Amino acid sequence: LLQLSAPLFMLGMMYREVKQALTNMERLFGLLDERQDVRDAPDAQVLTTSQPSVAFRDVRFSYDTRREILRGIDFEIPAGATVAVVGHSGSGKSTLARLLYRFYDIDSGAIDIDGRDLRALTQSSLRGAIGIVPQDTVLFNDTIGYNIRYGRPEAQDADVEAAARAAHIHDFIVGLPDGYETPVGERGLKLSGGEKQRVAIARALLKNPSILIFDEATSALDSKSERAIQDELDRLAVGRTTLVIAHRLSTVMDADQILVMDAGRILERGTHSQLLAMDGVYAQMWDLQQRQEDEVVA
Ligand code: ATP
Repeated sequence: LLQLSAPLFMLGMMYREVKQALTNMERLFGLLDERQDVRDAPDAQVLTTSQPSVAFRDVRFSYDTRREILRGIDFEIPAGATVAVVGHSGSGKSTLARLLYRFYDIDSGAIDIDGRDLRALTQSSLRGAIGIVPQDTVLFNDTIGYNIRYGRPEAQDADVEAAARAAHIHDFIVGLPDGYETPVGERGLKLSGGEKQRVAIARALLKNPSILIFDEATSALDSKSERAIQDELDRLAVGRTTLVIAHRLSTVMDADQILVMDAGRILERGTHSQLLAMDGVYAQMWDLQQRQEDEVVA
């Protein structure tokens, strides 16, 4: 019995670890308790391009057949460019990110990466190419070093430190009682919103993805941290094909293209100045946000 129980115990541990890793992934996207049978095609290919373009072609999608969430979405992110998406809560912005990561398969249309349908790619190569800085970064109950290394588990200490420096969190970390070995998460040190985002940026830097998804936090940071995070993200986005899900218009001003979404459709598109000149929904949103900021200052 003893001989049997040791391997069984090991198996149980492995199972829990694998399950935990999967759970962590899903928590990144708030998808806990949901399953979707996305599978590799038998002849799935490995995505190898270092700077792929991304294109949504007449994409339709519903989580539940009774309600269509994306109702014909068309846009392109040229290799290395940045496209930002704005729009009311519930208009379908984060859904675009989930579909690009292939958490779900679409109902019709296509999502192309470098001209190839993403359903023809292996999920591991697709997901390996995408780095996500999520709205709310999940910290595992482990050290802060582990939490950064999660972006690339085989990374050397020096690489982890370089990523932390670039994300401007290294000095904070070395000031902690146990430095990179300090436990964080629910059972450790609690990090602020800005610190958590910096951990996410360091993770993404370490992963060095060719496609970057930045899902901006809804809760505002103080304006100084926000400016700093913005600068770090701008640097992270250089040379990467980037999709920004924005909640504040100040974040999107420099994007190569801005999409204004409403109820699963793209209502307007253009650069910040083109959209202001259009004097439509974006211009109204901009006006409103300026006035709100003025009120805060006054
Ligand atoms: P926000 O700005 O608040 O983050 P959003 O524009 O990103 O909103 P999505 O998260 O893409 O909106 O959601 C679009 C719609 O899809 C919403 O009406 C939402 O209720 C619905 N939805 C999102 N996730 C699911 C899900 N897992 N199952 C069913 N419906 C969902």
